[in-house]
Amino acid sequence: MDLNTITAVAHPQTRSQLPVWTSGDAWLAGGTWLFSEPQAHLTRLIDLADLNWPPLAITETHLTIAATCSIAQLDALTCPADWLAAPLIGQCCRAFLASFKIWKTATVGGNLCMSLPAGPMISLTAALDGVCTIWKAEGGEHTIPVADFVTGDQRNRLTPGDLLRQIDIPIAALKRRSAFRQISLAPVGRSGALVIGSVEANGTLILTVTASTVRPVRLSFPTPPDATALAEAISQQIPDDVYHTDLHGKPLWRKHMTLRLAEEIRGELLGASPS
Ligand SMILES: Cc1cc2nc3c(=O)[nH]c(=O)nc-3n(C[C@H](O)[C@H](O)[C@H](O)COP(=O)(O)OP(=O)(O)OC[C@H]3O[C@@H](n4cnc5c(N)ncnc54)[C@H](O)[C@@H]3O)c2cc1C
Repeated sequence: MDLNTITAVAHPQTRSQLPVWTSGDAWLAGGTWLFSEPQAHLTRLIDLADLNWPPLAITETHLTIAATCSIAQLDALTCPADWLAAPLIGQCCRAFLASFKIWKTATVGGNLCMSLPAGPMISLTAALDGVCTIWKAEGGEHTIPVADFVTGDQRNRLTPGDLLRQIDIPIAALKRRSAFRQISLAPVGRSGALVIGSVEANGTLILTVTASTVRPVRLSFPTPPDATALAEAISQQIPDDVYHTDLHGKPLWRKHMTLRLAEEIRGELLGASPS
């Protein structure tokens, strides 16, 4: 849709060229959400494309995903064989309710900054211990785990003018055994619950609950839980008011699915049968 209140579009190429933030500004990444509904409060877009950040970089310790990396670029990443958790990348990219046009333009950073409960890049990066680097509006940088970055439905830790620069995922997390479960109310509907499990080198089971909850919730089990312990931990650590409600699922259904998917993951990763 045309955003007919926009009177200027800035195209900075470096951080020093970023304009001073004023009310009425918005960062423009893929634009798939920005251009999908009226934005009458906006007067200027600051396009991130010309910053030309390399979409993906692999070092000895981390996979760095630029905020401007598209879903399609991330999905096309060729991962080393010992990244046992690599299938999560494709699984989360496909958890998007999106056409190929959205896939090619929507960015990982835009997905985190939208902070929708069904943001599959939030699910992926929160489950893999991702850490956000934020360029603060007043200068300097700030880092924060993805799981703490998103605080609620369309709420996060950004303050006006802050820019998400990148997400760093430790290679150690990418080497973990993992399991993925996702469910939607309708066959191609938005995720109603998306649960990812992984096992750390010391045997700790990490469960990351997203989509059913308004923000990511990570649960850690240093000793393998039985079915009862798993269900109790979920019930205790995810209060009922943290479950999301909208036309893609009522909270009770989302909670039920979360418990069920988590139990399936326990079975897959710990070889446990239901007790
Ligand atoms: C048909 C359709 C289906 C969709 N399905 C889903 C879905 O299943 N799940 C889901 O979560 N979303 C969905 N969306 C919403 C949206 O497309 C995605 O969240 C997408 O990832 C947003 O990325 P973008 O790069 O297009 O962001 P943009 O639209 O460019 O920006 C989104 C918001 O984030 C801000 N922003 C972007 N990048 C940064 C940055 N680096 N730093 C600070 N702020 C930033 C923008 O200013 C804006 O407020 C869908 C949208 C459409 C139109």
